[in-house]
Amino acid sequence: MLLQHSIEQSETQGEPRGHAEQEGIVVPLELGEFRLLKQHLQEDGSIEVEVIAKTDRARCPHCQRVCVKVHDTRPRPKRDIPLRGHRIVLVLLKRRFRCLTCRRSFTEPDQACGKRRRTTKRLREHIGKQACSRPVSHVAAEMQVGPRLVQTCLEEVAQVDLAKHNLSLDETAPLPTPRYLGIDEFARRKGRRYDTILCDLDGRKVLEVSAGRTKDEVSHLLERLSNCDGVQAVSMDMSTTFREAVQLVLPHARIVADHFHVIQHVGKALKKVIGRHAKKAAGKQALEGQRHLFLRNQEDLSTEEEHSRAALALAFPEIAMAWQLKEALRTWYATTSASTAARDLDRWIASVKGHGPKEMHTALSAFRNWRQEILAFFD
Ligand SMILES: [Zn+2]
Repeated sequence: MLLQHSIEQSETQGEPRGHAEQEGIVVPLELGEFRLLKQHLQEDGSIEVEVIAKTDRARCPHCQRVCVKVHDTRPRPKRDIPLRGHRIVLVLLKRRFRCLTCRRSFTEPDQACGKRRRTTKRLREHIGKQACSRPVSHVAAEMQVGPRLVQTCLEEVAQVDLAKHNLSLDETAPLPTPRYLGIDEFARRKGRRYDTILCDLDGRKVLEVSAGRTKDEVSHLLERLSNCDGVQAVSMDMSTTFREAVQLVLPHARIVADHFHVIQHVGKALKKVIGRHAKKAAGKQALEGQRHLFLRNQEDLSTEEEHSRAALALAFPEIAMAWQLKEALRTWYATTSASTAARDLDRWIASVKGHGPKEMHTALSAFRNWRQEILAFFD
């Protein structure tokens, strides 16, 4: 069912104005299970939409009886798909029921988001589809979410795609050949088992997910591409196994180190620097629960968070230096071009050597082993 409604400006006093008089942003909610209560255009341009489930009953998960007695209602903000540039926050009034049969209370289920999720399913699907064809960090910046959520969404979309097309049923069928191929590892069940995922970066779709990530397994998977010479470039994380398999099976393809993974590699070194200080007496309390201030992108911090980060930076100059180097690498990616990339990268490497903590020095080996592939990103 399609619900359409207009936005009431938050600064408007008194009665909400009629449909025709309003500025006329019409939000198609398209979430049939909810009833719209009200919505506000916030000063920052985002739209807050308050909704509640239409049904007045829920099944008790303990005794399976249907309950109607509402115990209390709590607002739960959930990010939803942006609408014409407006960030949308669904404020879901979630009800807790008290079961009259077994006397226990429970929260109503949430089909639109899933248990304990702070985003709607359709937002995650939207993010995941974007991430099939663009670097994770770009999608994260545009959608104003963390890269980790983007990665999770990509994996969710891949699972759905695979279920739909039964891709993994036939592990020998030939695969269509994309011009730009993405190859990544794919953790199933929280990292206990790794598979390899192939994506068509132009067509934004998952080609195949195949068991394992050893050189033989990956080579075998790549051999199923119907025209191996048709692949012009392959984007990957800095995995030697992937590189060897691609060099073997797709010798003409250009290998590109995916910049999200390169930045993540340096981010891990920064994390180790913070971890080392957090173990010491001086850092234990000060850094508790504050690590994200250095790990998140600077532009994603609120003014308040940026103040806290700057204060911590004064107290921990070594962390501050590692953080600056990570941000400098991000700036390099954002601002350099094919003609200046090598020179600017060498400057960055020199500053790591000159001022970087030892964990950052260790991270430099990847820049020696993957130099060509990292620079290929700019071509
Ligand atoms: Zn019950």
